[in-house]
Amino acid sequence: MKSFAYVSAPDVEAAVRAISTEPNAKFLGGGTNLVDLMREEVEAPDTIIDITRLPLTDIVELPDGGLRVGALVRNSHLAANQLIRSRYPLLSQAILTGASAQLRNMATVGGNLLQRTRCFYFYDSTSACNKREPGTGCDAIGGFNRNHAVLGGSASCIATHPSDMAVALAALDAVIEVESVRGVRRIPLVEFHQLPGETPDVETALAADELITAVELPALPVAATSRYRKVRDRASYAFALVSVAAALEVEDGHITAIRLALGGVAAKPWRAYEAERLLQGTPANEESFRKAAAAELAPASGQSQNAFKIELAQRTIVATLNQLLTDGGAA
Ligand code: SF4
Repeated sequence: MKSFAYVSAPDVEAAVRAISTEPNAKFLGGGTNLVDLMREEVEAPDTIIDITRLPLTDIVELPDGGLRVGALVRNSHLAANQLIRSRYPLLSQAILTGASAQLRNMATVGGNLLQRTRCFYFYDSTSACNKREPGTGCDAIGGFNRNHAVLGGSASCIATHPSDMAVALAALDAVIEVESVRGVRRIPLVEFHQLPGETPDVETALAADELITAVELPALPVAATSRYRKVRDRASYAFALVSVAAALEVEDGHITAIRLALGGVAAKPWRAYEAERLLQGTPANEESFRKAAAAELAPASGQSQNAFKIELAQRTIVATLNQLLTDGGAA
């Protein structure tokens, strides 16, 4: 690992001031992904700015019934929070399917959003990878691509985003608050992560000198009846082949509100807007679910080893909505 300078920031102002003067610095929260990346020399910051002492660890109710979650809230605390479990059960479920208990105890909300792809070639400095080293190619295309994207990929990169939590946040219309020396701005979660296009090294809408300070969850009554379903190669400590975050409200047999997002299929949490549009107001039954799932996945295309995800995603959408219909949102 390359040597680096270490700075500990006492407050948000000091943290953003420090990074504004250090062009190759990184914030250190839980460190669960950054330290691995530094060991592999995928990340090689000159300076680490330790933000673990910042007062960003609260979960606060907002006047409209939403919640504001500090960026340094640990994943395990967020999953266990009673307000999260009752108002947004899919978020708690999503977090509990991710990583191991030890990692969830360390990982922060802000860091979870910024974790980088688990594409094998990205971590292997002997492989061609446009994300790690722009212009070198992509060894996943034509290589081992079982875990890779079927939606939103490009000729430059077919990596997937690894977060479960972010998929739930995409379904919930969450908003990310970020701060820099220029001030505060708010970014909708669905606009935060970027598709690869020709610049897969650009992964988020976050500027290099901005710090994530909070995630806001709007009041969303439909979220009380919600589920997160994750399909993976083994039952724990594995990334999603496909996941579905869904919330459903039905009155008189018709869908009155729906939120749907997919994980494991794209470089960003994939909000299933087309399926939502088709399902809103339609009879809540398996036929409607199947048609909507097929329409959402219609633009998908597979690689040599991952085309099974296209059918798997459709089946997982249908299964999750059927389960919500019959059992509601309780785990
Ligand atoms: Fe790199 Fe993306 Fe290709 Fe993986 S899929 S090797 S991250 S360019």
